[in-house]
Amino acid sequence: MSPLRVAIVGFGKIARDQHVPAIAATEGVKLAAIASRNASLAGVPHVSTLDQLLREGPPVDAVALCTPPQVRRAQAAMAFAAGKHVMLEKPPGATVGEIKPLISAAIASQRTLFATWHSRFAPAVEPARQLLAGRRITAVRISWKEDVRVWHPGQDWIWQPGGLGVFDPGINALSILTRILPQPLFVTSADLSFPANRDAPIAATLSLSDAGGLPISAEFDFRQTGPQSWDIHLDTDNGPVTLSSGGARLMAGGRQLVDTAEAEYAGLYRRFRELAATDESDVDLAPLQLVADAFLLGRRSIVEPFEEAA
Ligand code: NAP
Repeated sequence: MSPLRVAIVGFGKIARDQHVPAIAATEGVKLAAIASRNASLAGVPHVSTLDQLLREGPPVDAVALCTPPQVRRAQAAMAFAAGKHVMLEKPPGATVGEIKPLISAAIASQRTLFATWHSRFAPAVEPARQLLAGRRITAVRISWKEDVRVWHPGQDWIWQPGGLGVFDPGINALSILTRILPQPLFVTSADLSFPANRDAPIAATLSLSDAGGLPISAEFDFRQTGPQSWDIHLDTDNGPVTLSSGGARLMAGGRQLVDTAEAEYAGLYRRFRELAATDESDVDLAPLQLVADAFLLGRRSIVEPFEEAA
């Protein structure tokens, strides 16, 4: 079978760090072009925009949209109109509502829409889901704290409306949680801290629950210096379970059950290839809905301005 020819759209941090090596490592997938206004990669055909790619670029079967969430809906719609499969970076969009027309467009064009959640492909996530399926969970605490200056240098879009601020990493925790817990979750309270000079929160404290009243707390913070944390702690009827390092490690009963180098994006591309082979879509909006609900329910406080240079 001929490989799935993918064009990366928006050649920024995640495209360079993860998409390029993952495509190279995945059989049946080929990097056929890059569409990016200011960046290119030696040896790969380059155009500036998706529109230009679709009009005059090399032939491609699919696009991987690695642009900020605020511009992806229009790009995805354009790609479906041209008969391409679409992979969306997370979050799937800047709003929940804008995804439904894309699902319809994928169906109408008989192409794939894959709304990725890369953290769900971390090596300890599926083992955690299976372990927890046999236990009663009594409490969950999430600590997702990172230094925005280290991980998101110069990314102004993250502070603009639709950029999600600290929910940009926080939604990864929610994507794992909604995968490993057996029941649908909802937000019960939220406190959001907005820098005085920005339109998106720099920190958030959430309470969530499920129909059974499970207490879940989440602390998201972009101001973390020193040790970073991407951890989910669960109390269960058979002892504590910890999923740490963004889903790379699993501890239970004092034993390290998983500690594996992450290969999330290779998993994403294998899944994309499978979906595209049958024109199926894979879209789960649950994590984005939780973030939207945190914005709906959140009490806002204004905190000190954020400047890129500390
Ligand atoms: P980034 O470094 O800012 O890269 C995004 C690229 O998109 C930019 O380099 C830019 O390339 C292009 N772009 C920016 N604004 C645009 C606009 N208005 N219209 C069209 N193109 C535009 O951001 P990133 O960190 O790669 O993140 C991109 C997406 O991946 C986000 O949704 C993020 O949540 C997700 N993600 C990021 C990470 C991470 O660790 N960084 C991890 C997982 C997922 P040109 O100027 O060359 O066009």
